[in-house]
Amino acid sequence: MISIFDRRAFLRLCAAAGAFLSRKAEPQEPLVPRVSRSPVKNRKDYVGIQVRGFAWVDEGVEQVLDNIQLKGDVNTVWAYTFSYGEQRLQKNGPIPLPDHGKPGNSIAAGAFYDYDPKYFQNTILKDFRCPVYGKFNVIEAVAPKAKARGMDFFAWDLNNASSALNNAVANYPEVSEIDVYGRRNNRPCFNNPDYRAFLSGKVESLLSGYPDLVDGIAWGSERMGPFENMIGGVTLPSCFCRFCRAKARALGISVPRAQAGYRELEQLYQNAALNNRPEDGYFVSVWRLLLKYPEILSWESLWTNSYQEVQAQLYGLAKAIAPAKPFGFHIMQTMTFSPFFRAEEDYTKLRDFSDFLKIATYNNAGGPRMAKYLNRLSDTFFHDATPPEFLEFYYQIMNYHEAPYDKLATTGLSPDYVARETRRALVGVAGEVQIYPGIDIDVPTLIKTDAPVKHTAPADVRASLKAAFGAGANGVILSREYAEMWLANLAAAGNTLREIFAQSRG
Ligand SMILES: [Zn+2]
Repeated sequence: MISIFDRRAFLRLCAAAGAFLSRKAEPQEPLVPRVSRSPVKNRKDYVGIQVRGFAWVDEGVEQVLDNIQLKGDVNTVWAYTFSYGEQRLQKNGPIPLPDHGKPGNSIAAGAFYDYDPKYFQNTILKDFRCPVYGKFNVIEAVAPKAKARGMDFFAWDLNNASSALNNAVANYPEVSEIDVYGRRNNRPCFNNPDYRAFLSGKVESLLSGYPDLVDGIAWGSERMGPFENMIGGVTLPSCFCRFCRAKARALGISVPRAQAGYRELEQLYQNAALNNRPEDGYFVSVWRLLLKYPEILSWESLWTNSYQEVQAQLYGLAKAIAPAKPFGFHIMQTMTFSPFFRAEEDYTKLRDFSDFLKIATYNNAGGPRMAKYLNRLSDTFFHDATPPEFLEFYYQIMNYHEAPYDKLATTGLSPDYVARETRRALVGVAGEVQIYPGIDIDVPTLIKTDAPVKHTAPADVRASLKAAFGAGANGVILSREYAEMWLANLAAAGNTLREIFAQSRG
């Protein structure tokens, strides 16, 4: 972490944040503030945990804090301050209720705190207060009690796409992406000025609205560009809204050719689904399409650059308001499965606009999740071969030594996977950013498999924590959600962490 206060760079950053707030013309190049940071108060031996809104409401604030602090040795609460549509767990539901919490099926979307409307003057997304828990204000209810115990309170602002937000937030469908066939989807567009102003308004409302209660912000959005989404089978390629089209034209990218390229690519993948093999095979045919329409990759970069531009601008804004408070990002687990997404989530870029990164290295759930991604690859880009046929090559590309394909779901991924991803991140950020691997404690897979799926046991938690800190992690985030964790596994985390920290201090 650079601790020299570079005033000129800092003022440049504030100016950038100001331009962002006043919604002036979009810059043509991604705005990435390469800033010499003022000192950021990073806690040593950082242990965070994500806590859903309903957990506080159902179990009681003190009870949850007791569990995470005494059992889990957590020192930093990542409380959801915004939900894209959280659902209480059920005893035999797809994500089973563990040995704490209350069953239910309510869906809650929106903000779990009160905000001043002045921060949302520049956006049509003004009314997003979640009414579901009786206007429970998680910041006022939890932060003072956490601080009284010596813990920090981070706002966990997770901005995944969801149809729940379309229903809960007035005008939300207005900011959605437009796919290659001109239809809206339920994913907001990062080039839509109203969506950008909404995201920046949230950061302002947290840091300026609760200066004594919010100690930092963890920001996330599990999204990918159109090319990657087609491999992942997530959605039809997007976004082709008027803001994205205008931005492309300004960058000299042909909109009609990008649309034509993506339609042909979709046709090719549809043929793969029918095993309608082109004479030259799938890989060569995809590659030939990329040569014919380089606009396919240009549009993918346009999407990714726009996403990272938003991340950089939110970071700049946060630093302008509260320079010492950590602001960082969650990176979704696909980054550890997809060589394409991995190339885009480039640590040497991300380090310019983050104080910390939480990398989703959920090794138990990672087995079936990786198997699913391998299936996707085999359905599309790599349809010339089956997952078992290209697995060794894939492991070489990704630098993994993991189980054979037919064992992945049952064995999960190893602690070595956690260590390798931690080391790769640490090398990428070159000491400028804190790296917090996400430790898998009962992360659900929600994937149907023929073989029984790996479940977390205390020994797994212990091994992955040792792997993370053994690789040099600056801290960890117990993952995914407190509400999903069995208390014995949470206690295994706490016991192991106390042991590791005692050794490092001794
Ligand atoms: Zn767009």
